[in-house]
Amino acid sequence: MNSSRLPLLESVFCAVNVGAIVLDQQRRIALWNAWMIKHSGLAHEQVLGQDFFAVCPELRGGRVDAAIQYALYNNFPSLLSQTLNKAPFPLYVRDERIQQAVEVTPLEVDGAPRHCLIQVTDVSIAVTREKLLREQAMVLRSQTFADGLTGIANRRHFDVAMEKEHRRAKRGGTPLSLLMIDIDHFKAYNDHYGHQKGDQCLIQVAAALADMLKRPCDLMARYGGEEFAMILPETDVDQALLMAESIRARAQELAIPHERTTDPSQQVTVSIGIATQKSDAPVDIDALIGAADRALYQAKRNGRNLIASMLPA
Ligand code: GH3
Ligand code: MG
Ligand code: MG
Repeated sequence: MNSSRLPLLESVFCAVNVGAIVLDQQRRIALWNAWMIKHSGLAHEQVLGQDFFAVCPELRGGRVDAAIQYALYNNFPSLLSQTLNKAPFPLYVRDERIQQAVEVTPLEVDGAPRHCLIQVTDVSIAVTREKLLREQAMVLRSQTFADGLTGIANRRHFDVAMEKEHRRAKRGGTPLSLLMIDIDHFKAYNDHYGHQKGDQCLIQVAAALADMLKRPCDLMARYGGEEFAMILPETDVDQALLMAESIRARAQELAIPHERTTDPSQQVTVSIGIATQKSDAPVDIDALIGAADRALYQAKRNGRNLIASMLPA
């Protein structure tokens, strides 16, 4: 090596925008660059010639320690990803601990025992961006599964959940109930009170009914305009009837005035169709939905504000 290039190399070592430390065979600090000084607050006088673990005691026995041993004694390089070990070195930017990727490389020095180079890269920006992207993806995902007006699960969410619960019920030999819930005389409600009031009514009914679900596997979805569907896994006909009766009563409790309904209460009411797949008689999803639809139609024909149940064929 031309000795006139040494000062140049030293200034490059100091100028690079990563932390760079060189340790000798005894793990004493031989070099400590300007980036390390800036972010650790430790100047050359405090670190050069010192035992590395006396300067950074919290790294003793950890992954950085192991990587240093590999490099010095086994001649193996290591890359410590920041996912497992976010910020091993106590390095800071404006009081925020820097998220780090750490690379430890063996250095063969002519005639001298092996040294190692530790490089510390600031990956805080990448980590923050990744976190932001993950959060945005979650929001987008929840939006594609939520109904724009009422905020409850939408039809797509219903379809996915129905597939999943249907498969689970068949595999586990458990019953599965489906409720179709439809607001009575809602066209007349819109015509009389206006579309905006109609929207408010849908929001209120959806929120009240969704609030009645107790188990995480139950799902209440907006199936269509003023029609809702409730998936109740592990629920037999009798339990489904009880749930439907609570829903019918809860809708009435809301006491939303409806002057154009046929119901004597002159309030908004719902009709409900129930279909249950028995544990020992699985049917396909279309048959289950078809039976709940027919039951709903039956409840409407019988006078509304009523419940009917139908066995899937
Ligand atoms: P039935 O008792 O037999 O169910 O009668 P209905 O009037 O409720 O049923 P129909 O299917 O004739 O009318 C449903 C109405 O729901 C028609 C439509 O204007 C209204 N609707 C559907 N989606 C929305 C919505 O997002 N907002 C509002 N305000 N109204 C809606
Ligand atoms: Mg209706
Ligand atoms: Mg309808």
